[in-house]
Amino acid sequence: MKILVINCGSSSLKYQVLDMANETLLAKGVVDRIGLDGSYLKHEKVNVDDKYVLEIPIADHTAAIEGVLAALQDPVYGVLKNMDEIAAVGHRVVHAGEKYSKSVVIDDAVLAALEECIDLAPLHNPPNLMGIAACRALMPTVPMIAVFDTAFHQTMPPESYTYAIPYEYYTKYGIRRYGFHGTSHKYVSERAAYMLGVNIEDLKIITCHLGNGASVSAIKRGKCIDTSMGFTPLAGLAMGTRSGDIDPAIISFIAAKEGLNAEEVVSILNKKSGMLGVSGISSDFRDIEEAIAEGNARAELALNVFVHNVRFYIGAYIAEMNGLDALVFTAGVGENDVNTRDLICNDLGNLGIKLDLIKNKVRGKEAVISRDDSKVAILLIPTNEELVIARDTYMLAKEL
Ligand code: AMP
Repeated sequence: MKILVINCGSSSLKYQVLDMANETLLAKGVVDRIGLDGSYLKHEKVNVDDKYVLEIPIADHTAAIEGVLAALQDPVYGVLKNMDEIAAVGHRVVHAGEKYSKSVVIDDAVLAALEECIDLAPLHNPPNLMGIAACRALMPTVPMIAVFDTAFHQTMPPESYTYAIPYEYYTKYGIRRYGFHGTSHKYVSERAAYMLGVNIEDLKIITCHLGNGASVSAIKRGKCIDTSMGFTPLAGLAMGTRSGDIDPAIISFIAAKEGLNAEEVVSILNKKSGMLGVSGISSDFRDIEEAIAEGNARAELALNVFVHNVRFYIGAYIAEMNGLDALVFTAGVGENDVNTRDLICNDLGNLGIKLDLIKNKVRGKEAVISRDDSKVAILLIPTNEELVIARDTYMLAKEL
């Protein structure tokens, strides 16, 4: 059974085709600059070195999906004889509010429910829905499945997700903590249990998804009980360009001082803050570390803020779970940044966390990086959100 996975942004679309008989990736690609000048499609067939690149005007998401379907059936670079080989399409959808705690088969009722969630994710849900509409139009008989970033976090108890603001804002507008990166936290926590050979029901796990966007989750007995992102993905840790948690009163203060409105300040918190804002150099941890090596004090401060934030959540979640069995690092920084992992785990021995500095010298592959005498297993696990989407899609499509 072959599954097409679609991750649709406002001007870009990423896709993969997986054969679920053995969970192997057959092809992947990206369509970028949709609706803009210079749009292109880049397609890669696994085990074929050269890429298929098509530089053509791609006016909208339907044209983008048409391009993807053509690439997938290309005589040289394709992996399908015809589209009937695709058993189902799995769509990444960012926000399902409180409506779905699991992936679902998309029908008109689901689409209507997701339309209602646009308010909660105005930047993300509309392009996700455009991708679904385009696929439905071009593949009307193929089942479409939605897999949500928020779903895994729906197990949080009310005390974790409730903000201490007038309760009517929750009941009227759905203002609460939702959490994001759910497919990643789910994947790496399940993988951690597998690597340790322990039932996930018997584990307390903290997963650190540290990429350009970053979040930490507390996972007890396989269920998320808390996560650092909030009502939007702006909350929690300082990130590449996002501020993470700040005193909310800062927003009106900056607005008054700089002659901006609240929306403009929030845009600064989203796009010009975090590592970029503090360092004044870059949102990329590689650039930050290069600058630190050259003696740049603000770059060092930015990294120290980030490390402080991650340690803060680790400590909080150990308290929430009354202990910890496994600490997992994933995503761009978590998988590749040896130095940042070292700084995060430094001097946590009293909490049972002891990093092995030699084993830690590894990038981008599964590894146990804790010392033998560490009570807590520290694991490096490359995330695979597409595989989670493909698995859920496969499971639901099989039952149709
Ligand atoms: P992601 O959002 O998961 O794709 O992560 C992207 C981020 O990972 C980049 O912006 C970098 O900050 C970081 N990153 C990727 N490779 C490395 C590396 N070798 N060392 C440090 N940071 C890295």
